[in-house]
Amino acid sequence: MRTPENLFDRFEALATGENRAFVVTPAGRTITYAEANATSARLANTLVALGVAIGDRVAVQVEKSPEAILLYLACLRAGAVFLPLNTAYTPNEIDYFLRDAEPKLFVAAPGAKAALEAVARAARVAAIETLGTAGDGSLMERAATQPTAFATAMLDRHDLAAILYTSGTTGRSKGAMLSHENLASNAHVLSYFWRFTAEDVLLHALPIYHTHGLFVATNVILQVGASMLFLPKFDSDQVFALLPRATTMMGVPTFYVRLLDDPRLTREATAHMRLFVSGSAPLLADTHRGFEERTGHAILERYGMTETNMNTSNPYAGDRIAGTVGPSLPGITVRVVNPETGRQLPMGEIGMIEVKGPNVFKGYWRNPEKTKAEFRDDGFFVTGDLGKVDWKGYVTIVGRGKDLVITGGFNVYPKEVESEIDALPGVVESAVIGVPHKDFGEGVTAIVVRATGVTLDEAGILAALQPRLAKFKQPKRVIFVDDLPRNAMGKVQKNVLRVLFERIYD
Ligand code: AMP
Repeated sequence: MRTPENLFDRFEALATGENRAFVVTPAGRTITYAEANATSARLANTLVALGVAIGDRVAVQVEKSPEAILLYLACLRAGAVFLPLNTAYTPNEIDYFLRDAEPKLFVAAPGAKAALEAVARAARVAAIETLGTAGDGSLMERAATQPTAFATAMLDRHDLAAILYTSGTTGRSKGAMLSHENLASNAHVLSYFWRFTAEDVLLHALPIYHTHGLFVATNVILQVGASMLFLPKFDSDQVFALLPRATTMMGVPTFYVRLLDDPRLTREATAHMRLFVSGSAPLLADTHRGFEERTGHAILERYGMTETNMNTSNPYAGDRIAGTVGPSLPGITVRVVNPETGRQLPMGEIGMIEVKGPNVFKGYWRNPEKTKAEFRDDGFFVTGDLGKVDWKGYVTIVGRGKDLVITGGFNVYPKEVESEIDALPGVVESAVIGVPHKDFGEGVTAIVVRATGVTLDEAGILAALQPRLAKFKQPKRVIFVDDLPRNAMGKVQKNVLRVLFERIYD
């Protein structure tokens, strides 16, 4: 007989149905662990009644709500594979995911059902249900008549808990297969490393279709039986109203930039907090320093990705160094190699970051070639991120490998140029990209956001960079924009910029 390895059973307060708060909404609704246990049992019974068996995918495109989290927990209990989809995806994109993942059940937002029903039918999805943000929709109606007990599916630790599609900035998104062990090991290590206890209250303003809001935030809370204040989305007014009741927050850098822009951000406003965590995109060193000056809190930056969960983290006690993502987490090995030879590089040299550990996913859904291409023979996963490790083990990320600019045969790491530009007075932020250039292959190109009212121009920036960067690293052009394009996780979409400016050297 196999030992029970279902992630659900690791969440003790949930599995035993404790009578303490799990999710609290700004409107004042509290869902206790006891209630979460009962409702997720009802939902697990509903899944079984709809024909969902162990290993079947349940695709979900719904707005953030406590019930959506309960549906995730129901999938764990029933041994189904939870497959959340970005709420921004259009029916055309949903068509691709449904055909690729072949879910048994698709759960849509009530208002989107009409547009998505035909898509789901054409993709041969057997069951389509709806779930709204107020506990409404056909799924909860079905669940209402189901029993509040459910025998948790007996699984192997390698069985799949979820498939998360990568954001797919190059080519089509790929489904990252995450096992119960992948999620369990990360929930355990993060809750311990960041010192979460049952007394913690997490301010949760992230989306829940992505690894950050779904697994990092929610699983850590479930691991220790703590509670979360569950905002539909990031909203400064709501955040400032709730900070006095919270102890921790996890955010993307954009959250911290917005908080820092707000005069309400003070030591007093954050006095009840013990920890601010940032990830999913690089936190500017300036933001880190500015936040610490204003609040006394050094934001703790960590690094991870859909495929690997979290890999590194700045320490809880000890130096949280701005611009770094800290050392590898316990039980996880991070190395930096020469991308071509795969050979490990000496300390301090920039190369490809590779990761190995119980956190690393099982491979891409129905894509063995891609899986094979991104794993080394010794089991390390090639992250696609370029970075370096210092003598204390702290990792610094210099950007995605595909964002590397190769100009006249020289490698230019965008982060190095961006850091120089960002340090100039009057610059808010910048993105450096490679744009096709007939002489150089790619021309280093800087896209810059200026502070309002400053007169900084292209010639000024180029002149300021001259003594600071080797000639080949200096931008050939500087283009000013009002904002950098970002996705929902705050990542600058360099692929969008490359398309926008692809002809400037023609
Ligand atoms: P995703 O799979 O959407 O979570 O994106 C993962 C990617 O986000 C990583 O491969 C990195 O390129 C980037 N990323 C995540 N955390 C950080 C961080 N703290 N600093 C810089 N880049 C990050």
